[in-house]
Amino acid sequence: AGPGLKVISTLSVGFDHLALDEIKKRGIRVGYTPDVLTDATAELSVALLLSACRRLPEAAEQVRSGGWTTWKPLWMCGHGLSDSTVGIIGLGRIGQAVARRLKPFGVRKFLYTGSAPKPESAAEFGAEFVPLTRLAEESDFVVVTCALTPATQGMCNKDFFGRMKKTSVFVNTSRGAVVNQQDLYEALAHGHIAAAGLDVTTPEPLPTDHPLLSLQNCVILPHIGSATYATRSTMAVLAARNLLAGLRGEPMPHELSL
Ligand code: NDP
Repeated sequence: AGPGLKVISTLSVGFDHLALDEIKKRGIRVGYTPDVLTDATAELSVALLLSACRRLPEAAEQVRSGGWTTWKPLWMCGHGLSDSTVGIIGLGRIGQAVARRLKPFGVRKFLYTGSAPKPESAAEFGAEFVPLTRLAEESDFVVVTCALTPATQGMCNKDFFGRMKKTSVFVNTSRGAVVNQQDLYEALAHGHIAAAGLDVTTPEPLPTDHPLLSLQNCVILPHIGSATYATRSTMAVLAARNLLAGLRGEPMPHELSL
């Protein structure tokens, strides 16, 4: 946009795609869209988790391909949420909304990690603040809902997946770069973890010949966390209001503090 750029309005809550140092240096104001996409993204996270753990795309494909024959006791079995331990990486707005939705499925215990304990947010779920290593070791389901920062980049790597149980399911609806995809591929391909569900990847779109797409136990969606008609409409209005307020020199409905 050149040196005249005064205001940026992003149609997202994540701002990892913005060159914040340069933006700060130039005194550019940034509007973003927190809160209004929390419910839609949490809903999609739960849908993705259930798709991965109960193998929904794979099972639906069996119906189409004629793989559905006589009833067999262990055919298409997966892992359920009842009596499970769920680990949430980043108990922020979306992380809490995911926990709130998963609780009624009979989750026994919630664990979470982040830069510091959040006793007030965690109390609703009786969630325990633990180091990342313990979260990996004890969770039956890991859900990543943190922001992408230098600290979280590549955080879910070989060591992390190596600590997870063979029966555990990994779900990422934050940003692709939080995960080392090569390490995730190895973990899924060699049965070190049971399954994964990804709404976000590196790069986006993911090339159609990417190794992760060759795996039956990996469900990949095209970054549709906030993609409901109502949510995208609300986000668009908020983004426009942020932009107009920024250009008028007024307080934005949601301005990023840099
Ligand atoms: P919040 O700011 O409310 O939550 C972000 C969380 O990240 C905080 O709880 C924070 O914890 C946590 N976090 C930061 N650093 C670390 C760390 N080192 N380890 C673990 N957790 C950490 O944001 P939202 O919940 O609104 O959104 C979260 C992210 O979800 C967005 O940044 C975006 O990337 C992604 N997103 C994806 C969408 C999709 O379509 N798939 C849609 C919307 C958002 P703490 O406070 O302790 O630092």
